[in-house]
Formats: sequence, structure tokens, C-alpha cells
Amino acid sequence: MEPKTKDLWVFIETYPDGSAQNVGLELLNPGRELAEKQGGKLVGLVLGHNTDAAVKAVQEHGADQVIVIDGEEYEHFTTDAYVNALYEVVTKYAPTTMLIGATNNGRDVGPRLSSRLQTGLTADCTKLGYDEETGNIAWTRPAFGGNLMATILCPNHRPQLGTVRPGVFKAAEPEEGRTCEVIKEDIHVAPEDIRTRLIKEIKEDASEMVDLVGADVIVSGGRGVGGPEGYEPLQELADALGGVVGASRAAVDAGWIAHSHQVGQTGKTVGPKLYIACGISGAIQHVAGMSSSDCIVAINKDEEAPIFDIADYGVVGDLFAVVPALTAEVKKIKG
Ligand code: FAD
Repeated sequence: MEPKTKDLWVFIETYPDGSAQNVGLELLNPGRELAEKQGGKLVGLVLGHNTDAAVKAVQEHGADQVIVIDGEEYEHFTTDAYVNALYEVVTKYAPTTMLIGATNNGRDVGPRLSSRLQTGLTADCTKLGYDEETGNIAWTRPAFGGNLMATILCPNHRPQLGTVRPGVFKAAEPEEGRTCEVIKEDIHVAPEDIRTRLIKEIKEDASEMVDLVGADVIVSGGRGVGGPEGYEPLQELADALGGVVGASRAAVDAGWIAHSHQVGQTGKTVGPKLYIACGISGAIQHVAGMSSSDCIVAINKDEEAPIFDIADYGVVGDLFAVVPALTAEVKKIKG
């Protein structure tokens, strides 16, 4: 497809209540810089039902323009409705680039959209850049089990598409009351063209849910915690700091803690203000999910553990002695 504009689009996925998912707002941040390099506008594409809140958020997070597709059929995600709507609007405006959050739904629609548009898509990116020489977006993602970071260009087809992991970028501070042009697109999908429908929502067990991506403080435990009960002192430290508990894959695979706590390449990508890694060796696949944390503290009894290479502060010692001592100190400071 020949691009009609040099614009960069960010797909703003919405919740059923019409508010914007955070990953779309996060992507407006790198999107701003890339749109300027491309020489086009930064456009937020909002898709959902009763989307006023999402449109407002996109304006306040710095978009030059918002395109909205609003309809009852978009309240709950279905692959058919979403891909049809996206295909129609993308072919109408033909932007140069589109960023999509690598949520479950983003990972579903992204490849289908790229296939319909006969263009390329780089999935699950953890870094975005601009290749000055060729004018392409430089999409970076882990390859070969995370042992290598691959940077991929899409030189021959447009739009360039990529899905980007939630939590990799931070959303800019919203500018309250900021507005920009809003274009409403009346795109609807006939019910017979939607092959799946939502019958029932079953909420996950609340005790197993954790908001790792939105947390400011994460106290993470790995194989070194030794068993499910080993998470108790970590939970106490997390509670004292107002944070949540994370985990390495080794601990999740051992069945000590639910997968929703896993940080890393096959878990969540997190960027808290403080990440405390307890009994975690620092394998590349774990580090891929937490290296953008503002401050990393590592507690490990092996002074050679690779986690110390990326830690801002390291404590060589037994986590079962260090963690309770930290908790006591935090409680003392907080009074
Ligand atoms: P280990 O490597 O066994 O380290 C345990 C550490 O605890 C050691 O450094 C030890 O010195 C320390 N220790 C032991 N007892 C104590 C104590 N009492 N006090 C203090 N320290 C102690 N891993 C992830 O975490 N997330 C992912 O998303 C992920 N995805 C992967 C995807 C692929 C394709 C592959 C191949 C692997 C992936 N892994 C992932 C696994 C990863 O390679 C490592 O195996 C895993 O991160 C190791 O977990 P760990 O650090 O808890 O365990």
C-alpha cells in the first residue's frame, strides 16, 4: 500500500467501559519522537464503545489528531470486528507507521492486519528507533530465546507495523484540558461477519491477580526462596513498601507462585521505581523484563550472580536474613 501521509498511528485499545488501556498512552510517548522524525503527525486511533474518556486521555497525552471508531460491536473485543474496522480505516488514510500494544488482543489483531495489508509486522518489541539512513522504523525485539536482540526494518511495504510490550515505555504526564482535532469514522461490522461472541466473563481468582505493570515497587523472588512459603517474607517487605510481589520463571514453573507474577521475556515487562530481586540469578530472559526499573536492588548469596551486573545496589547474603531486616528497618522509618 502506498502511504498517503507520513503520519504515525498509535492504536488505542479500550476497556469495555470506554477508557484507554495504558499501553496505548505509553506508546504515544515514543510515537511523538518517531512521528517527528518521519515528518508526520502523531495520531491516536481509538476503537471501542462510549470512548469519550479514551479520546480525552489521548488528547491530554499529546496526540496531534485522534481518529475514533465507536460502536456497540466494539465494546468487547472480537477478532473479526476489530480487524475489519482497523483494515478499513488504515486503507482509507494509509499512514506510514502504526504501533500496537502487545496485549493479548494486540497480538491477535496485529498479525491479521499485517497479513490483510500485505505488509510486515515486528511482534513483541522492547525498543523502538528510527533508522536515519533508510527512514524506516528500527524495531527491536528479543530473538533466539532472548539471547540476542534483533533489530528489524520493514523497507519495502507500508504501513510498517509493530506490537510493543506494555510497560516498556512510560506514558508522558497528561496535560489536563489539552485538545486536538478529533475525526469520527462511522465504521460498522455486520453481526453475521463476527464469528465469535462473548458469552460470559469469568474473573480470575483475585488472590492470584497482581498489577505488576502499574506497580511502583516490586519485590521479586526466584528459585532462592526455596518454596511457596519463601514468598511470605517478600510479601511482608512488599506490603511495608506499598508494593507487589514478582517472581522468576523458575519459581513459577516450580508451582510456588501464579504465572501472573512472572517477570521476564515470557512474563511481564515492568519498569517500577524500585525492583528488589531476591534469590534471582539474573538470567537474560528475566533481565529483559525488568532492566528498565529506575532502581534495582539485588539480594543473593552468590557474589558472582549476574544480577549484580545490572543492580544499582547489591547485598551478598541469605535473603531470609536480609529481607526481614529490611522490612523491620522500613517499618521503623515509616513509624
Ligand atoms: P536460578 O537461576 O536457579 O537462581 C537462583 C538464585 O538464587 C541463585 O543465584 C542463588 O545464588 C540464589 N539463592 C539461592 N538461595 C538463596 C538464599 N537463601 N538467599 C539469597 N540468594 C539465594 N525466566 C524468567 O525469570 N522470566 C521469564 O520470562 C523467562 N522466560 C524464558 C523464556 C525462554 C525461552 C527461556 C529459555 C527461559 C526463560 N526464563 C525466564 C528462564 C531463565 O533462563 C532462568 O532459568 C530463570 O530466570 C532462573 O530463575 P532464578 O533466577 O529464580 O533461578
